[in-house]
Amino acid sequence: MRRISILGATGSIGQNTLDLIGRARADYHVVALTGAGNIAQLAADAIAFNAEIAVTAHPERLNDLRDALAGSSVEAAAGEAALIEAASRPADWIMSAIVGVAGLAPGMAALQNGSTLALANKESLVTAGPLLLATAKARGARILPVDSEHSAVFQALVGEDIAEANRVIITASGGAFRDWPLADLAHATVEQASSHPNWTMGQRITIDSASMFNKALEVIETKEFFGFSPDQIEVLVHPQSLVHALVGFRDGALMAHVGPPDMRHAIGYALHWPIRRDLPVERLDLAQIGTLEFSAPDVARYPALGMARQVMDAGGLSGAVFNAAKERALDHFIAGHVDFVGMSQQVSRALDVMGPQMADGSDVTLETVARADHLTRQHLDQQVAA
Ligand code: NDP
Repeated sequence: MRRISILGATGSIGQNTLDLIGRARADYHVVALTGAGNIAQLAADAIAFNAEIAVTAHPERLNDLRDALAGSSVEAAAGEAALIEAASRPADWIMSAIVGVAGLAPGMAALQNGSTLALANKESLVTAGPLLLATAKARGARILPVDSEHSAVFQALVGEDIAEANRVIITASGGAFRDWPLADLAHATVEQASSHPNWTMGQRITIDSASMFNKALEVIETKEFFGFSPDQIEVLVHPQSLVHALVGFRDGALMAHVGPPDMRHAIGYALHWPIRRDLPVERLDLAQIGTLEFSAPDVARYPALGMARQVMDAGGLSGAVFNAAKERALDHFIAGHVDFVGMSQQVSRALDVMGPQMADGSDVTLETVARADHLTRQHLDQQVAA
C-alpha cells in the first residue's frame, strides 16, 4: 500500500487527486490531508479516506475541525507548524497543492523527509526554485511536475537526452479576455475574469489565466525545473487547450503533448509515474476537433509575460517579489481596490521598486523569501492606500 498525503486537499487539484485515489482505495493509505477554510470538506474527506491526520492552516478553526471529526479516529491539528509536521510524516508520495507561497514550506518539509513531491504549487519553484531542487538532490527526493504544461514537457522528454532539446513551447488558452477589445479590459469584473474558456480551476488561478500571470509563473517554472534558458522558452496562444507543450530538439523535431484539459491526466501521470495506468479522462476525437490554432501572444494584452523575462534575468529573490506582488495585486482586484489593468501596473511597479532592493546578494532561503514576500505585500498595500 502506498502512503500518500495531500497538501491543499480541499482545493481543485486536491479534490481531483482524491478522485483518482478514491477509484483505487485499496492501493493507498492516506497519511495527511490539509486545507484552510473549508473545514466541512476537509473533515468529510479525512473520514471517508480514513486519514491519519487532518490539518487546517487556520489555528482559529481547530475547534471547528475537531467538532467535524468527532467520533472518527482522525487526528486534528491547525496552524503552519502543524502543516509542516503533517508534510514531514513518512509518505511515499505527497501532493503539493496549497495555493500561493504558503505551499513552499510544507513542500520543503516533504522533500527534507525524502518523499516524492508531486508539485502543483508553482509558486514554490518561482520563489525558491534553486533551494527546492538542491533540497531534493541532497535528500534523494524526487519532484514530479503536475502543472499540465510541465507534465507535458516532462512526458515529451521521456527517453530523450535533455541536452539535445533547445526549445520549449508552452501554450496558453488566452483566458477569459483573449478576444476582448484592449480598451475594455480596465472595466473587466472579477466575475468575468473568473470564467475560464476551457479549464475548471480555483478562482485565483483562473483570474491569473486571464491576465497571463499564471503563464508568466509557468515560464519561470520551466526555467527553474528543466534548466532551459529564458530565450529557449516560448509561449503560444492556443485557444483549444489540447496541446499543452512542445519540446524542440536539435534536429528540428518538435515533440508535442496532446490531451484533454483535465488535470486528472497530469495528476495521474505523477501518481503512477514511471508507468501509465488507465485514467478517467476523455479520449480526444481529433477528426471531430478538426482544427488546432496557434498564435503569438499580444504583449500589450499580456504584460505579465514581459515581467517573467525581467524576473528570469534578475534571478535571486525577484521571483519572490514577483509572486508576492501578483498575489497581493490579485487580492486588491478581488476586493475592488484596483481594476484589471491596474493589477498588472501594480506588479510591474513593485518589480521595478522592490526588485533592486531585494537584489542585495541574499541567498534564497525560506527566511529571505518570507521577508521579500512580506515587504512586497506591504509595498503594494501602501500603493493602494496612497
Ligand atoms: P484552490 O484555491 O482550489 O485550492 C487551494 C488549496 O490550498 C485549498 O486546499 C485551500 O484550503 C488551501 N489553502 C488556501 N490558503 C492556504 C494557506 N494560507 N495555507 C495552507 N493552505 C491553504 O487552488 P488550486 O487547486 O486551483 O491550485 C493549487 C495549486 O496548484 C496552485 O499553486 C495552482 O497554481 C496550482 N495549479 C492548479 C491547477 C488547477 O487546475 N487548478 C493547474 C496547475 C497548477 P481551503 O479550500 O480549505 O481554504
